Amino acid sequence: MNYQQVLDEIWQEVASLPPEGEVASYIPELAKVNPNAFGAHLCDVSGGHYAIGESEKKFSIQSISKVFSLTLAISLAGDPIWKRVGVEPSGDPFNSMIQLEFEQGIPRNPLINAGALVICDYLIGQLKDPKADYLRFIQKIAGDDTISYNYSVAASEKQWGHRNAAMANLMKAFGNIHHDIEKVLDLYFHICAIEMSCRQLAKTFLLYTFHGKVPHTGEQLLTLSQAKRLNAIMQTCGFYDEAGEFSFRVGLPGKSGVGGGIAAIHPGEYSVAVWSPRLNPKGNSFLGMKVLELLTTKTGRSIF
Ligand code: GLN
Repeated sequence: MNYQQVLDEIWQEVASLPPEGEVASYIPELAKVNPNAFGAHLCDVSGGHYAIGESEKKFSIQSISKVFSLTLAISLAGDPIWKRVGVEPSGDPFNSMIQLEFEQGIPRNPLINAGALVICDYLIGQLKDPKADYLRFIQKIAGDDTISYNYSVAASEKQWGHRNAAMANLMKAFGNIHHDIEKVLDLYFHICAIEMSCRQLAKTFLLYTFHGKVPHTGEQLLTLSQAKRLNAIMQTCGFYDEAGEFSFRVGLPGKSGVGGGIAAIHPGEYSVAVWSPRLNPKGNSFLGMKVLELLTTKTGRSIF
């Protein structure tokens, strides 16, 4: 498959589309980004790298980070976390509180905000220095120690994080947050504020393409069963209340973030990351979805 040619064609097609969607502004620091920024990077299993646009520019990965925090929790704990967080799509926005009350403080899945807060709570109980350890974990999978937090974004999230604080408090009332709420929120805001480029994201997501093996070290970080489950959760829960639409149009497991990034994988074939900050009303990158839809359409291959 000539991925570079496919990406070039896609770039040409999307460049002529009228700009659609808005940059996330509920976290003021995110609104500073160029709305028309665009990049994509694909890594295949034979070590090939293919890129278009600003694939080396770092952006706020936001909720894509929830995949890495889940990976770390699973690699440390195995199954016990599933008593505290479900594996069902929410069908609701990423920051919705409605189900939490009905479902006794057990979030639907670990890729929505409430679920990621529970995972952060879990990690605080497992790690000596959670922020530093989490960053080292991502750097290890990525094989890149330049990956870091953007502290201005983390501070901006904290200042405007009333909904996340409300969710953490509600879950604490149900007994599903065990540590100090401020500590849990602080870790959560930092993990969302990780900055990576499309190249770094695609390279990191190779872990899921290779069924839980870090390709550049050979370490089997997740068991095959854990990797299968993680990919299943991305497929069913990676796009909030648009997970069905993403499966329907793209057909790959993936995860989006309100920074405009989407990372996705074709198990055993490739990983891909796209970045375009204009979001559709559901909070997913408008062009990002389009690019990935074109990718699976033009290559004629998805997981289905
Ligand atoms: N940090 C963001 C929040 O908590 C993450 C949301 C997202 O990317 N969907 O609201």
